[in-house]
Amino acid sequence: MNVADTDRMELILFHSGYRRTQEKEDADLILVNTCSIREKAEQKTFSLFGGLKPLKTTNPDLILGLTGCMGQQDGENMLKRMPFLDFVLGPDQVEGIGRAVDLARESEKSFVWTGFDSEKKYSIPEIPGDLPKKPGPSAFVNIIKGCDKFCTFCIVPFTRGREKSREPDELYQEIRHLILHGAKEIILLGQNVNSYGKRGLTNPMPFHELLYKVAEIPGLQRLRFTTSHPNDFTKETIRAYRDLDVLVNHLHLPIQSGNNEILKSMRRDHTVEGYLELIDELKAEVPDVSLTTDIIVGFPGETDAQFKDTLNVMERVGYSSSFMFSYSPRPGTPANEMQDSVPEEVKRQRLQETIQLQNRLTEEQGKDFVGKTVEMLIEGNSSRPDYSFKGRNPQYWRVNAKGDGSRYHAGDMVEVHIDQASGHGLSGVIQ
Ligand code: SAH
Ligand code: SF4
Repeated sequence: MNVADTDRMELILFHSGYRRTQEKEDADLILVNTCSIREKAEQKTFSLFGGLKPLKTTNPDLILGLTGCMGQQDGENMLKRMPFLDFVLGPDQVEGIGRAVDLARESEKSFVWTGFDSEKKYSIPEIPGDLPKKPGPSAFVNIIKGCDKFCTFCIVPFTRGREKSREPDELYQEIRHLILHGAKEIILLGQNVNSYGKRGLTNPMPFHELLYKVAEIPGLQRLRFTTSHPNDFTKETIRAYRDLDVLVNHLHLPIQSGNNEILKSMRRDHTVEGYLELIDELKAEVPDVSLTTDIIVGFPGETDAQFKDTLNVMERVGYSSSFMFSYSPRPGTPANEMQDSVPEEVKRQRLQETIQLQNRLTEEQGKDFVGKTVEMLIEGNSSRPDYSFKGRNPQYWRVNAKGDGSRYHAGDMVEVHIDQASGHGLSGVIQ
């Protein structure tokens, strides 16, 4: 979501005449788009700004802005702690970045903009030919902002506000626009995409219907979405996987914990059994579907046995990859009131065990691709020596491929014969 917001700010600012510099010393404007999902992300931001502050002395015209969730959560405090900042913007103020920069140029006084936009409308700026970071073959489209779930550990509903679905016509327009500029794959984005269209649209439209409509847009070759919440994931969406050729066989479905009591305490409102039922149904419809997830270890009160339940679910589902986190108390969330009872050392050990298990699962699945041919959308040049291109297969595995650099280009869909698997990456030769 932050990557999509950052790209959007760059595009808006490009239209105001700003151009990306290679070195921070050359910049007249530096924005840090922040995350507050865990404490570590916050600490990184403070140390980053510590390094940027001296640039203000060498270039007094430099504007320094903090955008994103940290600003939303604690805007005034950010200014107090870092008085050299020119402004602080919340994540719902992305559209106003041009105005904020203009204001900062004109006025000496720092300011904080953290209102939630009630409009929910997005502009769809023209994508200029000389934009350095053009939307690649794979482009994000935000379909729903905010979150209404209030999982007890999570700060997102406080920083990104209530759910707001964008109008389908605006989405089709944006997707057509991106395809016209070279996008082949569209990733529909939201904290909980399955809640799309539940309310606030001129004509209500459930998420699966949006999938069917988007799939009809000419030129679209792949469709993905993230993130899904198990509670709102419908059987109709499972059927969409079966019906729609462009919908790739990958699903990111966070489980967070494999224990029902912990899930309850997290206010995830589903059981492990309900989650597994969904997964089994999806696997029956889409046999080669790959599954990825998010996991939190060391949630308040989590016992060794409860943690083992998470490992068991990971094994049972056979995730191809996971985002694994150690629980981090977030101010203002309900879990912050619970006693953070799992010692840091135990959290660390549990995280290590989770990572080790995931590595094994990934390795086992990677081997299955060796000797086979996979479809890859070329996203750009590979950074690995000896390989020309990088991209992904439909199941979201990273692929590096050898091939004729003059014959193939970013945006091409090619077949790659896989001869090696390492981590969550595959490598081979274009056929
Ligand atoms: N909307 C998505 C997730 C958004 S946050 C969903 O519901 O799945 C991304 C991930 O960060 C979460 O799935 C969770 O695993 C992790 N996370 C969120 N808050 C956290 C916290 N306080 N401590 C550790 N991990 C956290
Ligand atoms: Fe956070 Fe839960 Fe909303 Fe995801 S669904 S953003 S974890 S509150």
